[in-house]
Amino acid sequence: MNITTSVLASLLQAMPQLRQQVYFKSSLTALSHAMEDQVLAGSDQPLIIANFQRERFYRQEAHRYRRIAKRTSQLYVLAAPETDFKNSSEVHETVALAPEDDLSQEWHLVVIGQHYANCLICRERLTPVADSTNSEMDTSRRFEGIWTFERNVSKKAAELLLNCIEVYRPELAAKIAEAKSRYLGDSALADTSISFLPESLNPDPFVHRLVTYLQAGQYKLLKAYRSISAQEQKERLVNSITAAIRRSLNPNEILEVAVQELGQAIGSCRCVIYCCKATDAATTISHEFLKPTEQGEVKLAPTQGQSWPLQDNGLFQEVVQHQEPVYVENTQDDPRLNGRKDSRQPQAERRTAKSKGNARNSRTTPLKNLIQQFSIRSVLMVPMLYQGQLLGMVELHHCGEQPYRWKEDELALVEAIATQVGVALIQAQAYANLEDLNQQLEALDRTRSNLVAITGHELRTPLSTIQVCLESLASEPDMSPELRQIMLNTALTDAERMRKLIQDFLTLSRLESGRVQWHPEPLSLQECVELALSHIRARRSESELPQITIQVPEDLPLVRADGEWLVEALAKLLDNACKFTTPQGQVMIRTQSNGSSMLEVTVADTGRGIEPNRLEDVFDRFYQEEGALRRTAGGTGLGLAICRQIVKGWGGEIWADSAGKDQGSQFHFTVPISSRPPETKRATDGGQPSKREIK
Ligand code: ADP
Repeated sequence: MNITTSVLASLLQAMPQLRQQVYFKSSLTALSHAMEDQVLAGSDQPLIIANFQRERFYRQEAHRYRRIAKRTSQLYVLAAPETDFKNSSEVHETVALAPEDDLSQEWHLVVIGQHYANCLICRERLTPVADSTNSEMDTSRRFEGIWTFERNVSKKAAELLLNCIEVYRPELAAKIAEAKSRYLGDSALADTSISFLPESLNPDPFVHRLVTYLQAGQYKLLKAYRSISAQEQKERLVNSITAAIRRSLNPNEILEVAVQELGQAIGSCRCVIYCCKATDAATTISHEFLKPTEQGEVKLAPTQGQSWPLQDNGLFQEVVQHQEPVYVENTQDDPRLNGRKDSRQPQAERRTAKSKGNARNSRTTPLKNLIQQFSIRSVLMVPMLYQGQLLGMVELHHCGEQPYRWKEDELALVEAIATQVGVALIQAQAYANLEDLNQQLEALDRTRSNLVAITGHELRTPLSTIQVCLESLASEPDMSPELRQIMLNTALTDAERMRKLIQDFLTLSRLESGRVQWHPEPLSLQECVELALSHIRARRSESELPQITIQVPEDLPLVRADGEWLVEALAKLLDNACKFTTPQGQVMIRTQSNGSSMLEVTVADTGRGIEPNRLEDVFDRFYQEEGALRRTAGGTGLGLAICRQIVKGWGGEIWADSAGKDQGSQFHFTVPISSRPPETKRATDGGQPSKREIK
């Protein structure tokens, strides 16, 4: 047995003039109680039919119905059974509905007495707002239907319900027939329910006020629930986005997750996120969410990959200046985009607008182009900041015909996400820096290992020579005095080479580790060159040296450097120049001041030159063109590496030039200029370079 006809639908079909109304569950409960109380308070023996959607709803009222049953024998209670509710004829008639019956969706109460008649015929409205799993929201369940005092409506409803009852309980046919004739027949009670009552007892206005009151309270409650659940939803959203972006240390992934999640949550037409600095002239849109378009809607133009002006973007500059979100509700008439003065702007801002005049107009043009190209009607820009530093921007675009004003809670949500993205970006950056540092450390470790290997080799070579010589001297007493002398000289030479190597190596280590204390002071470059030359002359005989020319202007400004180290660098460059140039060749020291704060010093020679592809390598530790073992000119291979560290110490640069083999070489370095000699001296000397030749 299955009844699929809704009593409400049948009633509305039979009486099309009836208008449905929406009732909250709490209102229906109050009305039902009022109707039941009316029965309990009176002396009538009315016909009562109550349909509960479920057995549990009936159980909550069962005690009332036992009391009502004492008033009348015509009491029918219907419900969809859940546990022990079944057809029975005990204190009243119970009718167990098939659960799939349409009646189990409805709430009915029909009371027809001698002096009154009223009915409540409603059906539950299934709305997405009402979450029946949440018991707190149960009272906001909504129903739609009829509640009336009209006797004829009540009679019709009772008839429909009695017919249903007869289908379920055919054995009650006689009792139902009696009910119909007594309460529903034409000869039954006249429709005197309201007119019969004295005006003062008319319950209608009172009940209506009651319903209005209840409904208003329910609406307030519902609103409060909604705002709480919106808040809860927002927090859940922020948490889920935060969790998603914190899972990654890859900035691209973070921005992509953020733009997609935020775009979906906010439901704006377009959401874009880009990284930028406050001073950037422009950026490229890297991440975008576009709201999916419905059928027939115009597709939105994607901005991803688009160059986005920042310097010429008045809105971006406003965000940078105030470090706060900026929004434009209607891009068509906002003065900031149209270069008009806004009468609502504060005095200070208006002054700025006036003083900037045309600049402001021209500045907004690229932005206006974007707005047109991408159909942006309303725009919201929220900065991603970290400790006052701009990391990027979140932009929401609304592209509809009508402008859109973002609500407070939407703005708060975007701000919360922007903050979280900022933190995640900084974390990712810190991680990247750490990785970088790790790689540098690994490289340093590799270099150190290489260095130990090379140094070991460089030291072992002379040591082996010394050992062989000394062993030969010790083991062969018959060795000729000439050979003995050669052996001794070789051992001594290699011992000296070792000493120099260790000394250079220690110097380089000190310089590279940053342990050197620099003592910069104003220095005369000529004096430093003279000192460096005296070192060379002390080490080499005049006949070995090529012709050395110093071409330095008399009025050369003083340089600012640590004197000891400047002389060391010059001595090393001059030593190389002399070493790799035959006595017939030439070495020249010259300077060049090109108006900057640095002076360029060049040590040039006409010697053996350097292959162009080796010009950088010569500054590497232990680089020697012919290899350490075949070295004829002597040296440690550390000289130029030391020079580079010294020059780096005063913030200068060093580099080599050469046209190639046997074409001579030029070594240049820069050194800061300290101050110029007094004007008068320069005027007398005429600024001509002095040229001296030394041999
Ligand atoms: P060393 O001179 O002790 O070998 P350096 O570091 O001073 O070590 O020089 C490294 C290498 O650079 C030299 O061995 C040589 O091959 C090359 N070099 C340096 N100066 C000159 C120069 N003036 N002309 C040609 N080659 C040079």
